[in-house]
Amino acid sequence: MSARPGRFSEQASRAVANPGLRAVMRRAVAHLAGLRAKALAAMPDVEARRDRAAAVRQRTLDNLPDLLERLEETLTRAGVQVHYALDAAEANAFIGGLALDRGVTRVVKGKSMVTEELGLNAYLQGLGVEVFETDLGEYIVQLAGQPPSHIISPALHLSRAEIADLFARKLGQGGETASELTQVARRELREKFVTAGMGVTGVNVAVAASGTLVLVENEGNIRLSTACPDIHVAVMTLEKVVGNFADLADILDVLPPFATGQTMPGSLSLFFGPRRLGESDGPREVHLVILDNGRSRVLADPVLAQILRCIRCGACLNVCPVYAAVGGHAYGSTYPGPMGAVLAGALEPLDSSVPLAFACTMCGACAQACPVRIDHPAVLLELRRRATAAGLAPLPEVLAWAYAFALRHPAAYRAAVGLLRGLDPELTRVAAMPGLEGLAAYLGQREGLGLKPPFASEDEKKENGGGK
Ligand code: SF4
Repeated sequence: MSARPGRFSEQASRAVANPGLRAVMRRAVAHLAGLRAKALAAMPDVEARRDRAAAVRQRTLDNLPDLLERLEETLTRAGVQVHYALDAAEANAFIGGLALDRGVTRVVKGKSMVTEELGLNAYLQGLGVEVFETDLGEYIVQLAGQPPSHIISPALHLSRAEIADLFARKLGQGGETASELTQVARRELREKFVTAGMGVTGVNVAVAASGTLVLVENEGNIRLSTACPDIHVAVMTLEKVVGNFADLADILDVLPPFATGQTMPGSLSLFFGPRRLGESDGPREVHLVILDNGRSRVLADPVLAQILRCIRCGACLNVCPVYAAVGGHAYGSTYPGPMGAVLAGALEPLDSSVPLAFACTMCGACAQACPVRIDHPAVLLELRRRATAAGLAPLPEVLAWAYAFALRHPAAYRAAVGLLRGLDPELTRVAAMPGLEGLAAYLGQREGLGLKPPFASEDEKKENGGGK
């Protein structure tokens, strides 16, 4: 059965019972968090950079319709065909239809979380189109038949030995060191780039003033995915637009250091449209799909909208103790970790995503790490409040909330204690009900120790011999 946010508790329990996964996760997130900490320590103006980046992202949210209109205008002038998709079905239907129409049988992809959100690979494969992920981490998880477990390091949960074993089984080629394994992937992928009819990528930032699509990467695979095939399809969610190049610079000031500890991107691609007359490479057709998929609704929400400032750096995942303990797959959502819990709560129906809002210790490390100052704990608390009001909160949370309420209201506290005392004789019967094994075990323990029923009054305890 595939993982789902609604089954977080079960999925997380399985993950923490896997010592190999825990060891890999611990090492990997500590490594990423260490790289970020080192980069930031060498940046005296880091807080000013965060302020500027957060302000740019907030300006986008405040002016989104105007910016999108401007972007469409400038891109169209540059020869890019712009398409709006209300949801995943519309986006997939467009991309799949385009592939079939142009006779494309092979697609190469740059790493893109939004196409994970669409389920694009499975959709295209269902149409008979081959799809190859070309980012090394994505290539590995595609071979393993798994979704990414981290938004910037998709194969973070796999050890080098596991990857070597996977390559030997699936590709018949081995390797021991990271470099040897990378060479295997490189050899396999070269031929895919030059024979693909379409390259599909995400978009890190779209600049409205100039009609520029900006992609940040470290491996060069996005350049090959866009330079070799005749058609480039870029997919972005509607909030990725910014006003101008100064805004772009403010985002690039924080994205590499917070994501990977780099002072600047390994490779920065700026796309200004299809191949021009006299140019020897680059796509002949460029399409941009602008996906909503619930985001315009989130934009109107005074508390949840801030998650749309996210620039997908992954820093919040790398400092989250829950993510480090359970890994990305346990979340069962496209986006894992703190930003994933918030995004799932914002985009998906509350009844299916509610466990993720409670999968948080409220330590606040994510908010401290976020370059665009998203307050994840505040949003998760609001989602918990909404879930509780809708009767969707897990039982322990409801009990904790009720206890806190009773402590604040003495009359309610006295009434609750009276009610529970009345229930004392019934507790053993109640505890025999399915799902209350914990309560049954607790009562059994008390009985074994010769203790009185849990809600007995002081008078009753004295009457019965002064037991506790
Ligand atoms: S929420 Fe903040 S820290 Fe997390 S991925 Fe987005 S920008 Fe990075």
